[in-house]
Amino acid sequence: MAKKSMIPYGHQWIDNEDIKAVTEVLKSDWLTQGPKIEEFEKAIARYCGAKYGVAVSSGTAALHLSYIVAGIKPGDEIITTPLTFAATANMMIFCGAKPVFADIERDTLNIDPNLVENLITPKTKAIVPVDFAGHPCDYDQIFKIAKKYNLLVIEDASHALGAQYKGKRIGSFADMTILSFHPVKHITTGEGGMVLTNNKDFYEKLKTLRHHGMIKKPENGGWYCEMEYPGFNYRITDFQCALGLSQLKKINKFIKKRKEIVEIYNEAFENIKEIVVPVEKDYAKSAWHLYPIQVQGVDRRKMFEQLKKDGIGAQVHYLPLHLQPFYQERFEYKKGDFPIAEKYYKKAITLPLFPKMTNKDIQCVVESLKKY
Ligand SMILES: *Cc1c(COP(=O)(O)O)cnc(C)c1O
Repeated sequence: MAKKSMIPYGHQWIDNEDIKAVTEVLKSDWLTQGPKIEEFEKAIARYCGAKYGVAVSSGTAALHLSYIVAGIKPGDEIITTPLTFAATANMMIFCGAKPVFADIERDTLNIDPNLVENLITPKTKAIVPVDFAGHPCDYDQIFKIAKKYNLLVIEDASHALGAQYKGKRIGSFADMTILSFHPVKHITTGEGGMVLTNNKDFYEKLKTLRHHGMIKKPENGGWYCEMEYPGFNYRITDFQCALGLSQLKKINKFIKKRKEIVEIYNEAFENIKEIVVPVEKDYAKSAWHLYPIQVQGVDRRKMFEQLKKDGIGAQVHYLPLHLQPFYQERFEYKKGDFPIAEKYYKKAITLPLFPKMTNKDIQCVVESLKKY
């Protein structure tokens, strides 16, 4: 008999419709640079309430391009959270900028807007909030500061497709919003990402940079391409976009399923004082990308190992970036700089949460934790 498989912390849900959509494109003339790209961009932009979308090869590529388009240059500073995936800050490094971390809020685990203003210097160019676990940041406060100091807000919403802040969908209000379509995220294209924006100038620059910085100038001949600045090949393929379009049809169902699982977890852990469950504020509708609990009065590491023994592939999101050797060496960050993020990290376990989880999977997680 096959070994019992692990329940992962996140997983895609691909059905026959998805497979059919991809196969159709594989049989067509366009594998890349074809019509599915714009169709996907328009569909995501419409869903999120943004004017424009530019689809790229990954969320990381989307971050990189957005920073370049924002005019980030060597010596600039960008304020962000230490509790994020490394790519959020790594791409700042490749623009020569310094990630300036602000500690997080105890409850939402998002960047604390009250700590941002003190960090602003003449070098600060942007704020990059991350909607941790799918819960939107407190944007009224963030935009108030951004306006006052003339800073761009580039939102890393890789966790938050479909989330809402005060009734407005993520992607509709920031200067640029980043999405990822990695298989653990809400919908997938295998690898893939997107930048959403309402700014036409950003939109056009993003498209150019995705494709080597080349612009077609047919007035000089059908072959003629001009390059004003060097770009990348950050393109996504048509068959990936076909998958994304097919997946997008199911986004509301996916989020509903995620929310149902969250409610089962919340209820199961209600009277267990050792487990602190994630919150959802009045102003927010979370997209529930992750279900991060905090354990108290028990050994986190032993609990993690126990889950693993029971076939549960829990995770920890994330080791705060200022504790990563690279950030300590380059910028002299040190332990103790962001105590709330550090305290969270010591107690954190991300439990499995994905729409295709069965009731049996959910009960298995609950029982394993209760046993411990
Ligand atoms: C997934 C993720 C990214 C990177 O996305 P990729 O598509 O894997 O490159 C960036 N930021 C955050 C917060 C993420 O979760």
